[in-house]
Parts: sequence; structure tokens; C-alpha cells
Amino acid sequence: MSRIAMFGGTFNPPHRGHVEAARACVRALALDCILLMPAGIPPHKQLPANTPSAVHRLRMTELCAREIEHARVCTLELEREGKSYTADTVRELKKRFPDDTLWLVVGDDMLESFARWREPESIAAICRLAALQRKPEKERDIERAAQQLRLSIGARVDIVKNPVLPLSSTQYREGQNGEMLLETVQRYICHHGLYRPRPALDEVRLRMGRILSDRRLQHTLRVEQEAAELARIWKEDEYEARLAALLHDCAREMPVEKQLNLLEKYGIIIQYDSKEYPQLLHALTGSVLALREYGAPPSVAQAIRSHTLGSPGMSLLDKILFIADSIEPGRAYPGLEQLREKARRDLDSAVIDNMEQTCAYVCAQGKRPHPDAYLALDAMKREKNNERA
Ligand code: ATP
Repeated sequence: MSRIAMFGGTFNPPHRGHVEAARACVRALALDCILLMPAGIPPHKQLPANTPSAVHRLRMTELCAREIEHARVCTLELEREGKSYTADTVRELKKRFPDDTLWLVVGDDMLESFARWREPESIAAICRLAALQRKPEKERDIERAAQQLRLSIGARVDIVKNPVLPLSSTQYREGQNGEMLLETVQRYICHHGLYRPRPALDEVRLRMGRILSDRRLQHTLRVEQEAAELARIWKEDEYEARLAALLHDCAREMPVEKQLNLLEKYGIIIQYDSKEYPQLLHALTGSVLALREYGAPPSVAQAIRSHTLGSPGMSLLDKILFIADSIEPGRAYPGLEQLREKARRDLDSAVIDNMEQTCAYVCAQGKRPHPDAYLALDAMKREKNNERA
């Protein structure tokens, strides 16, 4: 019989208060497992307008779970359509773990409102409550609220002594004090430009319409659709996939000389002879423009940077843009349909196939593939082999 706790929250973003609270529960309740469960659409609160997508909240929660012994992330609530009720979640957990002891972890704020949740008696019948203090002045209140629930609905409440860190996600969203977050979460937020104003996709589409030829614009819009679909399939952030696609060719029609001047303006040194591969320069220039002039986050700039050749250590977003550019339905080459189908089934293999085909095509034209193309291909193959091992 295992001892399992469920720690749900919007984790928007997850902060040190959550991490310390989870650690305290593991210690105090001798847990075998604590399940961090990001909520989908929580019934008791409206998510604020700048809330990152579920994908991002999930990944930030995963970064925290790495730092907590016995923690795992559970996507049960994120996968549920519509509003997510704790009563349904604990019933589902009981089905999955029928013989184990279950706890529901709640902060003092949640404990006080618990009797007003949907089906509090059913929840209390299935699992024990682990109550955490959030504010220094709440010590007495938490004991009182626990006692009331014991008497009114027969709840079994364990008060867990935790380091009281009066932090909340709201505080971060309103003041962006990075110190209240784990460093990994802080870096993640910067990389993806979360909790900041971000470029509106309609606006970017209009800007592309002004600078690109009609043919290139149509290609760009098809890449956007393709990237959005792949993002939904592979659980990547759809907004970032669309933004990366819309901007990926923003420097494609710029004369090489102008691109070189622009790169110089931003102090960027090119490591290869731009004369040998002039058609590749736009990936670098495009990424710089995306970051500096269109307000895109580094994650998007990085995907644009690697969309022509790929790069070692490609992120999911990088792979999606790379392949979406090659398989958008306006392309025409033998094997396109198979590659489109493969990208939906096995993304990494599709990326590898595409890299190999491109190198073979360049060789067949009597040219030398760019050395970075081989570096990217080798890295992808190694990643694939490690996955298999
Ligand atoms: P928001 O400010 O957006 O309302 P939050 O900081 O309260 O967010 P949630 O994700 O809503 O965080 O919280 C998930 C769970 O963690 C809740 O049960 C909450 O009471 C508890 N919790 C949040 N912050 C702390 C903290 N500093 N100490 C202990 N428990 C906490």
C-alpha cells in the first residue's frame, strides 16, 4: 500500500512556495509519491488574460517536480475538457490507486473555502486532506478550519508543518519578482517571453503582407497552418508555433548586402562564407529581426535560426517549424505525402528524413551541403538512438 498525495494548482507560474510545500508534505506524511497536477480550467477562478498556455504551465511544473523528491507530474486535469472539478479528479485517482492512501493537498485559503467546493463530502470520503499554512498569521485559523471540517463533514485533516513562504503566483504576475521562482522556471519564462505583452498574430500577418511577395506570403500562411496543426498534435504551444511560422521568412527577400549590414548593426559575426550559401543567410537575419524588431521571444527566434539546416539539440518548436516549412501543402516533390504523414506519427524520423533528403538533393546539384546540416543530422540521429536505448 502506497501513500500518495495530489497537489493541484493552476501553477501560473509555480513558485518556491509550491516547491517547499510539496517537500514538506513528502517529509511529514512519508509519501511514496506526490502528484503535481496543473489544472485545466479551474472552477473557482478565472485565469488572467496573460496566462500562458497549458503546455507552458505543464512544463514549468515539470521543472519544479525535478527538484522535489518523489514528485511526478500528472496531466489528468489538463486532459479533461471543460471545467475541472476536484471531486472528479479524486474519484479517478481512487480508481487508479484503489488500495493506496490518498491525500489532497490544500493551502489554508483552499481549506477555508473547502466546504463550498462541489461535493466536499465525496472528496473527504475518498481522501485525507493535507493542510498547509500560507501566511504567518494563519496558524490558529488553519486549526479552526480543520476542526470545522472534521465536525461538519467528517473530513480527515492532517495539518502539515511547512516553511511558511507567503508567496503567490499573483504576486509574481503583478510584480515579476524572479527570486520567488526556481531558477529553471525563471529561465523558462524568459526564453518563452511569458507574462509579458507579446506580438499579436494578426498584426504580424499584416506586416508580412506588407514586406513579402504574394507567393512568399501564401507559403508563409500555409506554413503557419501546418505548424499550428503539428503543435496541437505534439503538444507544443500553438501561439509560438504560429508566430515562428509567420516570421520564419521575414528576411528571405532581403538582398544579401542589406542582410549583412543589418547583422553588422546588431554586432553579429557570421561564421561561414555568405557567398557560398547566400540563400541560408535569411535564417540568421530572420531570427535577429524576429527578436529585435518584431518582439518575438528567444524560443521563436531560435526556431527561425534553425529552420533551414536544423541545429544540434533542436527543441520541439524548432523541429515543428523545420518540418512544417518543408511539408506545407504548396510544396511539390516525390515523397511529400509520406513525409506529411510521418510528421504526424513520428516527428523526429520525419525531421531526419527531411535533413537526409535535403543533403542528397544539394549533392545531386553538384554543390556541397553546409557543414552545419551534417552537424544537425548527426545530433538528431544520436537523439533518436538514445530514445530507443
Ligand atoms: P494565484 O496567486 O494565481 O491564485 P497561488 O499562488 O495561490 O496562485 P495555486 O496554483 O492556485 O497558487 O495553488 C495551488 C495550491 O498550492 C493551492 O492549494 C494553494 O493554496 C497552495 N499554495 C500556493 N502557494 C502556497 C504557499 N506559498 N505555501 C503553501 N501552499 C501554497
